[in-house]
Amino acid sequence: MQNITLVLLTAGSSSRFGMNAKKQWLYQAQKPLWLAVADRFQNSFNFARIIIVCARDEIEYMKQFSNYYYVTGGNSRQASLAAAIKHVKTSFVLVSDIARCCADKEMIERVISQKENADCVVPALKATDTLYLDEDPIDREKISIIQTPQLSNTEVLKDALKSGHEFTDESSAIKALGKKVLFVEGSEKAHKLTNKDDLKKLSCLEPPSAETLIGFGIDIHSFEEGKEMKLCGIIIDSPFGFKAHSDGDVAIHALIDALIGAAGMGDIGELFPDTDSAYAGADSILLLQKVIKRIRAFGFELVNIDMTILAQTPRLLPYKKQMKNKLADVLKIRLNRINIKATTAEKMGFVGRKEGITVHAVASLKYFNWNEVI
Ligand code: MG
Repeated sequence: MQNITLVLLTAGSSSRFGMNAKKQWLYQAQKPLWLAVADRFQNSFNFARIIIVCARDEIEYMKQFSNYYYVTGGNSRQASLAAAIKHVKTSFVLVSDIARCCADKEMIERVISQKENADCVVPALKATDTLYLDEDPIDREKISIIQTPQLSNTEVLKDALKSGHEFTDESSAIKALGKKVLFVEGSEKAHKLTNKDDLKKLSCLEPPSAETLIGFGIDIHSFEEGKEMKLCGIIIDSPFGFKAHSDGDVAIHALIDALIGAAGMGDIGELFPDTDSAYAGADSILLLQKVIKRIRAFGFELVNIDMTILAQTPRLLPYKKQMKNKLADVLKIRLNRINIKATTAEKMGFVGRKEGITVHAVASLKYFNWNEVI
């Protein structure tokens, strides 16, 4: 398909979806949904280029999954499409929403086969229910239920998007320009994934792989006199706290790095730069909450965490239970999945000289099994 580019729209916030995970990040075996769909399209049709339109805060992460062409989307479907269309070099463009993840090859072939016969080719279903408009029944033969992917003449679509009006799909934008729109038979398989109950209707979806991913984190902070000491979000009775840009909760920082590491998302400094004044004196528990929310949004579930706090002083045994309870509350996992160990450094090194504390943490993640909760 050397004269067709596929634009796959995945920039939605999944605000209506009803799960912690965004729909584009539900894992199919070892691939997030957006990648599974893109690969399926590419294996079936070998498009000249596949453009993945994604959210600004997802693009760098997505680029690590494959070498498709990535474009940052806008605030609406149309703004996302307008951003992508600038990168289309072929005569035709097929636009699909990630929500139509099970659109079948046969339907897409019907769309593509008509590309020379209209400015926009649209799959559509006939209405089977009785329909009313306000108080009156209407002739359902006149009703077409529009689906995607739709295939457009690239230049015509570019013109249509310049109009300044907001359209819900390419066909209505092209129709408004007075150009030719052609309907072909749609498919029940192209049912739209809008909320989690739609997952039951999408038989092409596979459950996620059961593999687990491990992350490791380490952090060190030196003591600073007169500051409040916090470890795992718990105030520790101590004449000194930690020298830090944030509240210096060295245990939470190590844990955050372990979580980010397991998800393959870089490190704490990339997510919360210490040059950013927004994080000056920040409560590290709030940073942990942000991280765990992000990890869940990207299709992961936390399995367990373990950490070792190396401290010559203060004595931490009396606080371990409180620390575990705090982490269980923030991470929403059971206490048996949280392990905290504390040890001294036998008076050796900077820890032994009571200059500071270091924490090592590991975390393991698995793919969120959406299949179990529908
Ligand atoms: Mg730190």
